[in-house]
Amino acid sequence: MSTLDNMLEEINKANSIVILTHENPDGDAVGTALALYNALKQYGKNPDIIIPEYPQIFAFLANAQEIKKESEVEKYDLAISVDCSDIKRLNGFAKYFEDAKSKIVIDHHSTNTMFGDINFVNPDAPACAQIMLVILEHFNIEVTQDIGTCILTGIITDTGGFKYQGVTPETFEFVAWLLNRGINVSKVYRKVLQIKTKPNFELTRNANNRLEFLEDGRVAYTYITKKDEEEVHAQNGDHEGIVEIGRDVENVEVSIFIRETDEGCKVSMRSNEYVNVSDVCLMFGGGGHQRAAGVLMQGSIEQVKEKLLYQVRGQLK
Ligand code: AMP
Ligand code: MN
Ligand code: MN
Repeated sequence: MSTLDNMLEEINKANSIVILTHENPDGDAVGTALALYNALKQYGKNPDIIIPEYPQIFAFLANAQEIKKESEVEKYDLAISVDCSDIKRLNGFAKYFEDAKSKIVIDHHSTNTMFGDINFVNPDAPACAQIMLVILEHFNIEVTQDIGTCILTGIITDTGGFKYQGVTPETFEFVAWLLNRGINVSKVYRKVLQIKTKPNFELTRNANNRLEFLEDGRVAYTYITKKDEEEVHAQNGDHEGIVEIGRDVENVEVSIFIRETDEGCKVSMRSNEYVNVSDVCLMFGGGGHQRAAGVLMQGSIEQVKEKLLYQVRGQLK
């Protein structure tokens, strides 16, 4: 029996199902989780979806209002984690996963630790949402406009609008298919990728002013502090996109963005051609993809910057 057949058998058997994703969820996390939630409901199941906090730009997705912050259920029959590489990144809600009788992991991070009983992980997929599409097709669950929009949200956000490496022919075939069904791709694109919140705009302005070019212009570096976020009343997700700015300047290979939080310094790294930023983040306990990775580190912004630069320097050509 294939992995997907095993997965469907677990779903069929389960009376209670919970869907989870990584902390600080992005469009792929929320989109894939809601696609699965809506699909399982259509299939006749009554799952829970638990995401304590998510960016409000995704609140228009079908049944986003049913997302729970927590649950009273002590032990689910089945827990399904999407777009999450590591049980640590399920953070405070990892307990729902750990306590579940059966555990499924669906993901596309090359650093996935295979923390489920059933793991369906494809690092070649540009977004976890694209894997979800394959799964739903295998399960013969109809991809309605609502589900299609959730999946499209994941693909658009994780590919930076179809422009990152990793975009496959299937990505465009799927978008063509959506267009044929009358889904307004351009409207979704604008909603999930282009429109900025006011705090995001202000934080970006700040980060731009501070941006430094190091190592002969091959590294771009910037940061924002807790105070910056308080001043603009930033909400979950309002720092998104800042790390991309430095990467898009000519000759830059690596962009480093540090965000000061109550838990420590959240690092985002991006590269263009050859530096494997996932390896750098992995060294400090994080992970991600070759060209986009992250890690949570302790210490001051300045200390974290120096530790990262030391590792990056060794990889620069
Ligand atoms: P971000 O910079 O937060 O957009 O993350 C870039 C990529 O790295 C995403 O695919 C994240 O899922 C992944 N990532 C970020 N932080 C971590 C972490 N602490 N551990 C593992 N993967 C991470
Ligand atoms: Mn994600
Ligand atoms: Mn993803």
